[in-house]
Amino acid sequence: MTDSPEGNVYDLVILGAGSGGYAAALRAAQLGLSIALIEADKVGGTCLHRGCIPTKALLHSAAVADEIQHSSNVGVNSSFEGIDMPTVNTYKDGVVGRLYKGLQGLIKAGKIDYITGWGRLTGQDTVEVDGTTYRGRNIILATGSYARSLPGLEIGGRVITSEQALNLDYVPKSAIVLGGGVIGVEFASVWKSFGVDVTIIEALPNLVPNEDIALSKALERAFRKRKIAFATGTRFSGVEQNDSGVVVSTEDGKTYEAELLLVAVGRGPATANLGYEEQGVPMERGFVLTDERLHTGVANIYAVGDIVPGLQLAHRGFQQGVFVAEEIAGLKPQAIVESGIPRVTYCEPEVASVGLTEAQAKEQYGEIETVDFNLAGNGKSQILQTTGFVKLVRQKDGPIVGVHMIGSRAGELIGEGQLIVNWEAYPDDVASLIHAHPTQNEALGEAALALAGKPLHSHN
Ligand SMILES: Cc1cc2nc3c(=O)[nH]c(=O)nc-3n(C[C@H](O)[C@H](O)[C@H](O)COP(=O)(O)OP(=O)(O)OC[C@H]3O[C@@H](n4cnc5c(N)ncnc54)[C@H](O)[C@@H]3O)c2cc1C
Repeated sequence: MTDSPEGNVYDLVILGAGSGGYAAALRAAQLGLSIALIEADKVGGTCLHRGCIPTKALLHSAAVADEIQHSSNVGVNSSFEGIDMPTVNTYKDGVVGRLYKGLQGLIKAGKIDYITGWGRLTGQDTVEVDGTTYRGRNIILATGSYARSLPGLEIGGRVITSEQALNLDYVPKSAIVLGGGVIGVEFASVWKSFGVDVTIIEALPNLVPNEDIALSKALERAFRKRKIAFATGTRFSGVEQNDSGVVVSTEDGKTYEAELLLVAVGRGPATANLGYEEQGVPMERGFVLTDERLHTGVANIYAVGDIVPGLQLAHRGFQQGVFVAEEIAGLKPQAIVESGIPRVTYCEPEVASVGLTEAQAKEQYGEIETVDFNLAGNGKSQILQTTGFVKLVRQKDGPIVGVHMIGSRAGELIGEGQLIVNWEAYPDDVASLIHAHPTQNEALGEAALALAGKPLHSHN
């Protein structure tokens, strides 16, 4: 069913087929709605093609490189001969390619009208693509985000963003990473494992500054041990590049030299010149403002994903897309609680959290209790030779409101963490459930046991 000014009206027209847009399309298709899904590039968007998936493939290659280099610690002698970037890229692109094919199959199976082209909101119920108008009883804006830079910092040559960093066909000798947030520390981690001399420059006082301070400090200790250099509380002032490298200067008068500068200072909403303002969609600093039901307040226009202020994460986009599809179908879904969205930073060691940090919980509830369970007391973590901890934050005499973890593979534990927080579990609820031994999951159970006043393997 293709639409035109004279033709049919879709139940739903979606602009952008990234995590938010395609999830909305797939759920709406299950609910029997007619859908036009408009995408200028490739279904899957940033996450699949330029974000989550390719970076995690690189991190897996990095983890294998680390294992080989440290294998003699566990009695396996091997020799590390180096990183073959073209093969790393073939592996990474193979992962992306297979998922892309699968996703295209899902879109086809959903009988979704997939329209390739650059769309623009030309009315409160219309999107125009290359001269054809698609009308919808409902519209979802899901145009995603782009890598931001700083004023006066031009991307090009040896000054790159994550997009170019994902496609490097060589391993640089050295790199400076501007920004110690999620994307910055993940690339720093990969590159260090690949043998690159890395320095992170971060303006705020800590790495991963949105996390509980205990996680930031633990990551900084781990990075120091890995010899990943970082300068926190340090503001960028300029960069010069020549044939051999870059010289980055900072406001404190210092300079840093390297082969490349990766700019990882956050992502801006991709909303410019798309007709949003003209149709009265409320905007702030380029982001689309919505109520808690993701409605813009204008006609039947909704927005999902990175263009909506908040955590810029793929699974938030998926959930928002599903939510809006269900809302449109009249299912009255429960509003999404932003603090209940799990967050994982996949560097080595991994950082994972859900719910409130200790500081946020104090501010919200006044009296709180916390406990740290050190991974030194967890058998599987000892076997894996990782260090770190699980920290739980509870409202005094109330439920657990925050789970914060650091250690190799900690991201895999966040599934349980998010159930604990989102089901508002009490320490006793978790303490009475059985965790298989020896797993890293036990660390969460042990932390809950400690918080319930009956620690088993806690040393602190
Ligand atoms: C390096 C990196 C690593 C990341 N790692 C993770 C991770 O591990 N886990 C995680 O949860 N998140 C991660 N993210 C974030 C995640 O990729 C985003 O949160 C997610 O992709 C947002 O989904 P979205 O649908 O809002 O936008 P996008 O995925 O950006 O999709 C928007 C789509 O809209 C299309 N589009 C834009 N304008 C138009 C137009 N006018 N007409 C037609 N089409 C248009 C674009 O081509 C794009 O395909 C990472 C991001 C990056 C950059």
